[in-house]
Amino acid sequence: MNNYEAPPGLLADRVILVTGAGDGIGRAAAKALAAHGATVVLAGRTLAKLEKVYDEIEANGDPQPALVPVDFSIAGPEEYRQLADTIESEFGHLDGILHNAGMLGDITPLEMYDPDTWDTVMKVNLRAPLLLTQALLPLLKQSPDASIVFTTSSVGRRARAFWGAYAVSKCGIEGLSRMLADELMNTSNIRVNCINPGATRTTMRASAYPGEDPASVKQPDDIMPLYLYLMGPDSLGVTGQSLDAQ
Ligand code: NAP
Repeated sequence: MNNYEAPPGLLADRVILVTGAGDGIGRAAAKALAAHGATVVLAGRTLAKLEKVYDEIEANGDPQPALVPVDFSIAGPEEYRQLADTIESEFGHLDGILHNAGMLGDITPLEMYDPDTWDTVMKVNLRAPLLLTQALLPLLKQSPDASIVFTTSSVGRRARAFWGAYAVSKCGIEGLSRMLADELMNTSNIRVNCINPGATRTTMRASAYPGEDPASVKQPDDIMPLYLYLMGPDSLGVTGQSLDAQ
């Protein structure tokens, strides 16, 4: 589906939450989803970055987005419940979540991995997607065809030395995504899938691979076809998959 050509208006009337929408892949996804008609709820940590994306979407003439500043390393069930209430009162429905926010943590041997860093990475990369999904499922179940997309990584499929909590959290996301797909398959209209973005030119990539020429990897905009496909009605019936964006 990496050559998928999304028709204009693909996501008209859909409300989609994007986490980590202020930077990198999340920023590109928020803009691409809005450009195809979605009303995007921009969630992320740094308000100034979210505001910039908000302005870019408005300047493009796309549906007015909404802003939700949230720090996934400290938020708990109550914050996620409030977020669900806000979406319900503002829009009345929710048709998709792109769980994209993530942090790298340390690249270091497990033998010396810092326990506090471990906990923070697990909270942001694994606990937050679960709690956010729990809070938003009642709304998603009301949508005629909702899509949940989690973000994995090559180290979430095969953990490699030194990738620490990041790799373990992404292995967890693969399991969470499959389990949720299974649980919802026969009881809802919600499809659940994982995207592995592959090497993509972002701040996270640059810190993981400091010696790499950034020009040698794809830009976030280049990998958007799969995101659009999974969020739109053309992927109806596709669930429990872990797909590569490149
Ligand atoms: P990025 O440029 O570093 O962006 C990460 C986003 O997550 C930022 O918007 C960041 O917000 C947000 N975030 C981090 N910690 C947060 C927290 N505590 N609370 C709320 N938001 C938080 O990284 P990226 O490369 O676009 O990564 C996006 C996703 O793709 C991640 O899940 C990553 O694991 C995955 N991925 C990326 C690659 C790649 O090559 N780039 C490859 C495989 C998988 P702030 O900007 O405000 O900090």
